[in-house]
Amino acid sequence: MMQKTGPASPQCAADMLFHLARSAGQDDSATPLTPAQWAALRFFARASRPSRTPSGFASFHATTRGTASQTVKSLERLGLLARVRAPQDGRSVSFEPTEAGRDRLSRDPMRRLEAALGRLSEGDVRRLCEVLQASMEAVAGAQEAAVLGTCGDCRNLTPAEDTEGGLPGCACTGDRLAPADFDRLCVRYAPDPSRLGKTARGGHE
Ligand code: SF4
Repeated sequence: MMQKTGPASPQCAADMLFHLARSAGQDDSATPLTPAQWAALRFFARASRPSRTPSGFASFHATTRGTASQTVKSLERLGLLARVRAPQDGRSVSFEPTEAGRDRLSRDPMRRLEAALGRLSEGDVRRLCEVLQASMEAVAGAQEAAVLGTCGDCRNLTPAEDTEGGLPGCACTGDRLAPADFDRLCVRYAPDPSRLGKTARGGHE
């Protein structure tokens, strides 16, 4: 099949997405972070606790564990990320943004893009998220890489009405899911096409 090109072609859309991500993420501060450091800082602020590890970030950023570890260490040295031991066993370690890291995130250059997208209608934003999610899954599938997502369209989600206690659950980890967990990125996410566009609480947004 001939590749369609032009102003509304897949090639044009891919070029625009690439340019948009690069230009919107440009850090023009006096002490700029690299794009990889920004990606890591955002990831550790948004991911679920079991996902907040160098290997979780490696999956998310489609890089090697060694490269991901170096990026995490550089953010630790800058005082933007800190290690946290799991309260349950005291052995497993995850990473969280420090106060300085959260302050830095409040000046994230990507907020320019968020502001621009905030001017779209709710329906357009939802449709855009669906298109981008499907595209990420297709690219991850072609690379045999993990795709990250959130509970709302994950096939491991057990709806609240099917659990004891009235909270939704995760069939993968066995955990109950608090509302704060729903929008967190998860490395164990398994996309369920029938749930795309629904919230983790079981209804449409
Ligand atoms: S339901 Fe899916 S996305 Fe949510 S915690 Fe479980 S595996 Fe992760």
